[in-house]
Amino acid sequence: MKRLCQILCFCLLLLITCSACADMDVYFLNVGQGDATVVICDGEAMVVDGGPAAKSSFVYRWVREHTDFVRYLVATHPHEDHIGGIAAVLNAVPVDLLLTPVEKYASPSFDAMIRYADRQGTVVMVPEEGDVFALGGAEVTVVHCWPEAWTVNDMCICLRISYGDTSLLLMADAEYISEYMILDAGFEIRSQVLKVGHHGSSTSSTMTFLREVHPEAAVISCGAGNTYGHPDSMVLEYLEKLDTKVYRTDTMGTVCAHSNGSWFWFETEKDTDTGRSVMPVDDGKTEEKPYYVGNRNTKKFHKSSCPSVTEMKEKNKVVFASRDEAVDSGYAPCGRCRP
Ligand SMILES: [Zn+2]
Ligand SMILES: [Zn+2]
Repeated sequence: MKRLCQILCFCLLLLITCSACADMDVYFLNVGQGDATVVICDGEAMVVDGGPAAKSSFVYRWVREHTDFVRYLVATHPHEDHIGGIAAVLNAVPVDLLLTPVEKYASPSFDAMIRYADRQGTVVMVPEEGDVFALGGAEVTVVHCWPEAWTVNDMCICLRISYGDTSLLLMADAEYISEYMILDAGFEIRSQVLKVGHHGSSTSSTMTFLREVHPEAAVISCGAGNTYGHPDSMVLEYLEKLDTKVYRTDTMGTVCAHSNGSWFWFETEKDTDTGRSVMPVDDGKTEEKPYYVGNRNTKKFHKSSCPSVTEMKEKNKVVFASRDEAVDSGYAPCGRCRP
């Protein structure tokens, strides 16, 4: 009898231990108009985009609170609303591998990203379509990466993540043509969860593509009251036709999709279904002191809110995630904004 009890206890312990580690959490961070997705699977982390530079402090803090190591950091394409906060991720924790569709791009955010990656010895890599990476028990497949695309959005690295019987498709800002290319390439794209392309814009999400993915839930990352009109009403109509439940960061805050390998369930920062909070609400402080901008010419650095930054030529800008970083790089504080 005692032996039977011991065996039962052992089995119970095993069950508890396994259920504690065997899961995948996907956080669609509320970074306003932009994208930042964090996938934590069986304790391993992947960050797909870091939001705009204005949300650097928020992304930095969030990443540090949730993990101490990022295995894959994906810069889906070089637009600022996706890679502006990537330097903050590289500043927050060690990162193994940085995936980008291009190794060169002329922008302050891209420069900062490469500089921080070099500094910590992160390997920078341009993936190929069909590449597969393991993240815990999940399989991450690159279904699109087009460095030669004539629009930056179509360069996007798109990923399909499968975990047990559950799957998720992250479309970044890929547009129509990329969707057709993905369909043409014959990748398995049917997924329970779809991160809708290009913030729900009408440039993406054809009905043909959505029908193939046939998601049960769709997540749209966009800023409240954004001037682009994202998400587009036609895209929302398509999703409704497919009976897809829509989660939006502009109205719901950060959205979290949990998978146990068999099904997904959702939690949102603002009360919709559960009313539970998946993370501390952004206190707005990030807007006050989000990051610093240096001027290559004058060797002065400023708070991002300093009027000098708006007057500065794009080519002279250099972004720093912290004050120390700017000082270490030989930049002096501006006398006007006193960073
Ligand atoms: Zn975007
Ligand atoms: Zn874009």
